Amino acid sequence: MLLEAGARSPNEATQALYEGAVSGHSYYPLRNCRVRQLGGTSSVWGGWSRPLDAVDFGKRAWMPFSGWPFLKEHLTPVYERAQRVCGLGPYEYDAADWRDADAPTPLVQSPSFSETMLQIRATRFGEEFHQRLSASDTVQLLLRANVLTIEMDAINRTAQRVQVATLDGNRFFVSAKRFVLAAGGLENPRLLLASRVASERGVGNDNDLVGRFFFDHLHAPVARLRVHDRSSHAHHVSREVRGTLVRAAICLSPDVSIREKLYGFGVTFHNARDPHDIFSLAQISESYDALRYVLKTLARGERPAKLLQHAASVATGLDDIATMAWRKLATPTASELVAGCRAEQAPNPDSRVMLDDRLDVFGAPRARLEWRISETDLDQLERAQAMFAGALETGGIEFALTPREGEGGWAEKVGGGAHHMGTTRMHRDPTLGVVDQDCRVHGTSNVFVAGSSVFPTGGWAPPTLTIVALALRLADHLRLS
Ligand SMILES: Cc1cc2nc3c(=O)[nH]c(=O)nc-3n(C[C@H](O)[C@H](O)[C@H](O)COP(=O)(O)OP(=O)(O)OC[C@H]3O[C@@H](n4cnc5c(N)ncnc54)[C@H](O)[C@@H]3O)c2cc1C
Repeated sequence: MLLEAGARSPNEATQALYEGAVSGHSYYPLRNCRVRQLGGTSSVWGGWSRPLDAVDFGKRAWMPFSGWPFLKEHLTPVYERAQRVCGLGPYEYDAADWRDADAPTPLVQSPSFSETMLQIRATRFGEEFHQRLSASDTVQLLLRANVLTIEMDAINRTAQRVQVATLDGNRFFVSAKRFVLAAGGLENPRLLLASRVASERGVGNDNDLVGRFFFDHLHAPVARLRVHDRSSHAHHVSREVRGTLVRAAICLSPDVSIREKLYGFGVTFHNARDPHDIFSLAQISESYDALRYVLKTLARGERPAKLLQHAASVATGLDDIATMAWRKLATPTASELVAGCRAEQAPNPDSRVMLDDRLDVFGAPRARLEWRISETDLDQLERAQAMFAGALETGGIEFALTPREGEGGWAEKVGGGAHHMGTTRMHRDPTLGVVDQDCRVHGTSNVFVAGSSVFPTGGWAPPTLTIVALALRLADHLRLS
């Protein structure tokens, strides 16, 4: 049985259940960086996909709490299957695999960096799989079914049932032999912490680890590059090669990241004059977004929620909207590229998701995110930026580095990518992780977790392909055990 809180389309009252508090480094409002409907946040994601690198799985002496319970090779077969589930092309990510006659010459040719590819396809999982789920003989899909708590036996070891509520006042329980939490990186820990019938600490939280180690990818503009030869520098353009949309990126070469003791760091290039070509969610225009929401909702024949608020946002951002709309019609040629990085954070127990004092309409505690970015994370990003600058210099590229501090400095602008990772981290040792190598919550016999909350570390690649690969691996485990 698949218990899904949302329906097939967005709903204001359901989305409001995602409201929560934020403290620490500034973050997106929690209701805006995920979607509570069938298909979850894939209803709005960008579809940028790439597996993690081999180096991400190893224990790195220079990164505290690093190391997955297995190597990348172990995931390769499920990554290949995940490609198909996500509707991507072949499991190939070396730039050389995608070189064709139209390929731009590599922008950065330095032994410190490798050229790689992202594949882009924004599969909307809700739309893609609804038909199959509804017709399935083996899966029963229940929409608008909000899981409130997991009820455990008296010794907090075996889950017996979950309590479910709908917004129109229905409440019921669902019993099962095994339970999989797949509610997203903020909601998975919220549910474990809120399930306090057998223990005040919640489920799987004997070692006070649930919700800790939250991390995201650090998105920052690291440099601006002058473009002289447009054809050979078209790295900001997504290209279709043999039916697959790909986009070039560069990342630290594995031997260099090991030798220099660096965290993951990847860079994509963006047309500085095109407001649609962005590398960070923080760049999205609120007014343009409000207008798109109202128009989309009307197109579905529904009444937009909070119409006045959206109208006010549109009215105050007409300049933005005009520029965005114009740039949609006439993409400007790039004379300057913004180099946007996705950098890795080290897992930090003080960066965490907790329960807030405020309750939602069901009386369940809301989530509170305390996001921490450490000085070491920022120093690491700065060192990788300096290596990037060296590579640009070697290539004879004209560029201006974004300073770390001061006006326009990246330290202030650095933001997350709505990649919610680490909050139920995987480790064989229950004193270091919430789930074991099979994604079973330590200390329980039948509660499992799917999603990026199980990532012990996150590299620089976007997380969703790995989420899907781990979900397939978990499905195999449940089928066979
Ligand atoms: C604007 C945006 C762009 C993004 N772009 C990319 C990208 O290009 N590449 C990439 O890899 N990642 C991207 N991401 C991140 C990506 O969307 C997430 O990694 C991915 O959706 C997480 O999948 P998930 O299934 O774990 O969680 P979600 O997609 O959040 O799904 C959780 C599901 O659980 C349901 N649920 C939650 N709580 C309950 C409950 N109590 N009871 C019942 N059901 C519940 C929700 O309704 C939802 O269906 C982006 C995110 C955003 C916001």
